[in-house]
Amino acid sequence: MTSSSQVIVVGTGVVGSVIAEHCLDAGLEVLMIEAGPRVSRAQIVENYRNLPLGAKPDATASYPPADWAPHPFHGLEHLESTGPNKYDPTYIRYAGGSTWHWAGTSWRLTPEDMQLRSRYGVGRDWAFDYETIDPYYNMTERKLGICGPADPADQWPVRTRSMPYPMPHLPLSQGERKFTEVMRDKLGLRNVPVAQARNSGMPYDDRPACCANNNCVPVCPVGAKYDAATSLNRLEAKGATILENSVVYRVETGEGNRIVAVHYYDRDKTSHRVTGEHFVIACNGVETPRLMLMSADDRNPNGLANSSDQVGRNMMDHPQQGYTFTTVEPYWLGAGPVVNSGIMETSQGDFRADHAAVYFRLNNFARNRDIAKRAMSSGKVGRALDEEIRRLTATSLNVVAAFEMLPDPNNRLTLSAQKDWLGLPRPSVYWDVGDYVRRSSAEYSNPLAQRIAEAVGATDFKPASPEKFSTSKHIMGGTIMGNDPATSVVDRHSRTHDHANLYLPGGGAMASTACGNSTITMTAMAFMAAEALVSEAKGA
Ligand SMILES: Cc1cc2nc3c(=O)[nH]c(=O)nc-3n(C[C@H](O)[C@H](O)[C@H](O)COP(=O)(O)OP(=O)(O)OC[C@H]3O[C@@H](n4cnc5c(N)ncnc54)[C@H](O)[C@@H]3O)c2cc1C
Repeated sequence: MTSSSQVIVVGTGVVGSVIAEHCLDAGLEVLMIEAGPRVSRAQIVENYRNLPLGAKPDATASYPPADWAPHPFHGLEHLESTGPNKYDPTYIRYAGGSTWHWAGTSWRLTPEDMQLRSRYGVGRDWAFDYETIDPYYNMTERKLGICGPADPADQWPVRTRSMPYPMPHLPLSQGERKFTEVMRDKLGLRNVPVAQARNSGMPYDDRPACCANNNCVPVCPVGAKYDAATSLNRLEAKGATILENSVVYRVETGEGNRIVAVHYYDRDKTSHRVTGEHFVIACNGVETPRLMLMSADDRNPNGLANSSDQVGRNMMDHPQQGYTFTTVEPYWLGAGPVVNSGIMETSQGDFRADHAAVYFRLNNFARNRDIAKRAMSSGKVGRALDEEIRRLTATSLNVVAAFEMLPDPNNRLTLSAQKDWLGLPRPSVYWDVGDYVRRSSAEYSNPLAQRIAEAVGATDFKPASPEKFSTSKHIMGGTIMGNDPATSVVDRHSRTHDHANLYLPGGGAMASTACGNSTITMTAMAFMAAEALVSEAKGA
């Protein structure tokens, strides 16, 4: 059993994998410790096929958790949610992490998204500007294989790219093309092709091109979508050691408050200690702050990296509201990836001083399952039922509004009194989306959604309740980044202010959410952390 390594990376999700590979490429010795099991794509596809119909829309249902590595799962409350809104991220504790079931949507931040405090007087500014992160976005797009539009008129953000996408964007489905035209002609809004971590038209990274299964969530059956599990064999070929089914439960400090070791339980509940020189905790925005709090010791009685009392605070996501309506004319959605286009320009403007920005996406999920249920409940049978299913499949649209959210210290992850299978405290999160978001829903996004629905000829639009939000499962904020150690947990390299050799990269470090899906930004920050770690290891 490995008992020491130069670099220890905890977590084999996209963030941990990218850092591990960067370190391996620089000639460092890397040990990766992963809580969950290592599974094959065929097994997940088989799990999905065997699900009862009612469970298929549940993104985690194909990923039953291991006893020792519980994650949020239908019928198993790993995470306690308190507060006025429900906090329900559905991450996966398997080797490869949550990109197994992500959609792959990859919007960059805009320069404005990173300067909310100085531009609009709300939230926090980032510790660096857009020009600083731009090269790391380029690296991310190449590493994950992100396809996107070549034409600047179709790109988001506007006029900021320093390199083209490595692959052209995927074609829009018939319904998406029509929606794009209607938005442009009737509302003057740009519905642009999504940048997404999915191979378009050609193999990339030893993975095939997307063949439009429309099953990206919960699993791409052919591996055309990037997920971190696809990189693990390559990391081993480059020399990484990967320990699966190994749950890190304590990070140990030594002289000078440097990290000296991590402790993990194997699947038999036997404890092991592994020493190292450089430590990366990449367990995601819930499990990383949880581990920091669980690791409290005499030097750090409030938990590791927590002299600022900010560990677990400022938890953020993209609260969202959905609108499902029927049109008169047929649209026919459902060919291609499940998310393939979006309206991002509604996410920018001086109104952000007052209320949250919003991004609208027309989901391209094939809707036949919901629709068949709806048609059958109308009492129709035989040919009439068949015709009703066809009509609704062609005319049923689902548009989602995803909001930005401000960092609020009261939105806080703490350790629950409830224990998991290993006897470790479960995470508990107080969750309130806040008035900034509620105002946006009432005054900005609901009226905009109504205009969108009217433009496409919806016959049954209903506004969303400005009180009810679901989460987008984009976990951010709990180990927030900043230049000031008194008010933040990590610095611009995702290195903790309190422990010189401890990095906490990922969504937890993000200082603002903007509206677009955030994994591309987490990965860009992972590259920044990896560069800093390598220079530290090489004594540069
Ligand atoms: C349904 C769904 C759709 C999504 N779609 C998108 C999208 O389209 N675009 C987008 O940008 N984002 C999307 N996301 C979010 C995206 O999946 C995450 O942002 C991303 O996977 C986070 O990567 P990570 O490496 O930080 O964490 P994870 O992928 O969660 O990986 C963390 C790893 O750490 C391991 N781990 C955890 N605790 C321990 C421990 N104590 N010891 C050892 N190992 C541990 C886990 O097992 C896991 O392997 C989606 C999420 C969901 C749920």
